[in-house]
Amino acid sequence: MSRSGEAPAKKTGVQKSVAKEAEEILLATEMIHLGARLQVLQAETSLSYDRLARLYREIKGCSPPKGMLPFSVDWFMTWLPNIHSSVFYNVYRFMDTHTPSKKVRALVEGYRLYLEQAFVGRSEQVGEPVLSFTRAWMLIRFFDSKLLQLSACERCHGEFVAHAHDPQKGFVCAICRPPPRAGKTRAGERRTQPRKRDATEVQVVASAQGAANEETVGALPKAGRKAEVAAALRAASEAKTLSD
Ligand SMILES: [Zn+2]
Repeated sequence: MSRSGEAPAKKTGVQKSVAKEAEEILLATEMIHLGARLQVLQAETSLSYDRLARLYREIKGCSPPKGMLPFSVDWFMTWLPNIHSSVFYNVYRFMDTHTPSKKVRALVEGYRLYLEQAFVGRSEQVGEPVLSFTRAWMLIRFFDSKLLQLSACERCHGEFVAHAHDPQKGFVCAICRPPPRAGKTRAGERRTQPRKRDATEVQVVASAQGAANEETVGALPKAGRKAEVAAALRAASEAKTLSD
């Protein structure tokens, strides 16, 4: 993902604008609060590693975690992460296309809205969200590098994250057709050692029986669909023990 709007100030030579720097510090601060890793901050701002690490420590009270970012595209295909990622990406795309918030601003604001949806109906935000901020950022990069696409479910017409070039015809999403193991415990899962799932598993051969219902929900982020999305997320979260 490219940086927002104007060209970022160069680290060397040119005197950096104080206003621009302040803006980037605020942006980095917001992202740290949302759980961003240092690599994400480095990619999205022109602030130095040292400044970012210091900012991170000031806000979080600990050193930033080391190690690689989560690189797996397949993670987004497992059923619960797929539902959450699809909600987030639809919101992000809407923000980026239809509001003044572009790119990294759309990411920050889209992710806030996602959190709101993911924790709706609960008195407080408990536990980790299924989709972390860093994964949300990776997701956008995967879309930008054309590794992923949105496929429309032929039953609910919602658009879901799928591998690029997967056949669109006959696609049924993980909400309309949850995998059989949904709701089973982790212990049970370990015993049965389920095989790895991928996007092909949520696809069916198009048939008359599976003909799309005209009355079903539209694309995920559309206004008025909030309740359905929230209900689906809640149902999915109840079976969360299965994820990862
Ligand atoms: Zn569906």
